This record gives sequence, structure tokens and C-alpha cells, in this order.
Amino acid sequence: MRPVDKGDAPKQYSHYREARNDLAARIGWYCSYCEMPVKNMIEVEHLIPIKNGGAELDWENFLLSCKYCNTLKSDRNTSRKGYFWADKDNTLLAFTYQSAIIKANGQLNSSQVRIAQNTIDLMGLDRYPGGANEPTKADTRWKGRDEVWGAANISLANWNSLPCEEMRRQIGLTAFGMGHFSIWMEVFKDVPEVRKELINSFTGTSMNCFDADGNPIPRPNGNL
Ligand SMILES: [Zn+2]
Repeated sequence: MRPVDKGDAPKQYSHYREARNDLAARIGWYCSYCEMPVKNMIEVEHLIPIKNGGAELDWENFLLSCKYCNTLKSDRNTSRKGYFWADKDNTLLAFTYQSAIIKANGQLNSSQVRIAQNTIDLMGLDRYPGGANEPTKADTRWKGRDEVWGAANISLANWNSLPCEEMRRQIGLTAFGMGHFSIWMEVFKDVPEVRKELINSFTGTSMNCFDADGNPIPRPNGNL
């Protein structure tokens, strides 16, 4: 899950949906949870649901979500507590990715693993065919992860045979279009030049979540 920086509220909104394009301009047209690119009808998501006392019009309470993550999350969380959030934590450290499979990062301590798993469960992020949590017919979020895993590995092979500035830029462009930042970062974990290109390619990636070589580091004032 890509850590993002929304910045300060650009203005006051009289309806939360008015914030959609401002949010997308700041953090890109991606679901903040499953990282799918959503270029049409992306939804403004209330981190703390309105029903549970979350502020309806407060920029601080907004992220962007695909239809599916928003529907599954619904009003099931009563606060931010017990989950990792892309606008407060370095959520790249929370999970590991392989093909369509997302897991809590086993390198974390046991309480952090529990929080990472709660976050996965809140949006049903680990659903894939043949897994413990089978997706519904309508839930094809796994497909993007599967395709990007394939494309990122081909890109890594291309990089290894021709590591040059043009290739690096091309990989950044391809990743920007296909989305799923975290999968690209996983596949290129040993290639600092490309990691930095990815961090810069995706609009609104939180810069204070990475060191000078593009390695993820704990986020200042975050829980991870
Ligand atoms: Zn989503």
C-alpha cells in the first residue's frame, strides 16, 4: 500500500464528492487501499466512517477508493486505531507482495503484524482465486496484481539486460499507468535507481517514507 501525502486542504467543501479531483491531483488516480488505477468514478472514502462519527467534510478524513474497497470497508471501523493508513504510516512496510498474494509483513513485531492483518481484512485485500479468501465473481481486484506482477518481472529482466536512463524512465511510465506501486517496489527492491524513479513517478507518494536510496523507512509521526 503506497504511503501518500495529501498536503493541506486546498479549500473547504460543501459536499465531500467535490474533493475527488483535488485528491486525485494530489495523490494520483489510484485506490488508496488496493492500489488499482481508477480513472473514472473514483470515490472519496471517509477513513473514519461518517456513521461512526467521522467528519464528513474534513480533508483529513479523506482518501480515494475503488468501489470494491469502499463497499467492503463500509462502516466497519469505528476509528483509525488498529489499522495502518496510507496518509499517516509508511504502509509500504506493512505488507509483502508476491503475484496476486498480499500478506502482513512477517518482519514486523507481533502487534504490528496484527494491525497489518486487520488492515488487509478491513478491505478484503488478500482475496485471490485459490487462496483462503476466495473473491466473489465481481471482485477482480486480484487480476490487476497478477498482471502487474508479470509486467514488473519482465521489466526487471529488461532492466538487467539494458540498464539505462531510457529504460528507467520507461519503467516509471509503465508503472504509473498500470498502478500497484507496491508490487513494482517489491520487484525492484534491489535496484535503487528504479525504486527512486517509481517513487517520483507516482503522484503524491510520501517522500519522507524513503531514504536517499529509495529504501522505505519509518514515517515521522506514524505508527510504522
Ligand atoms: Zn481498491
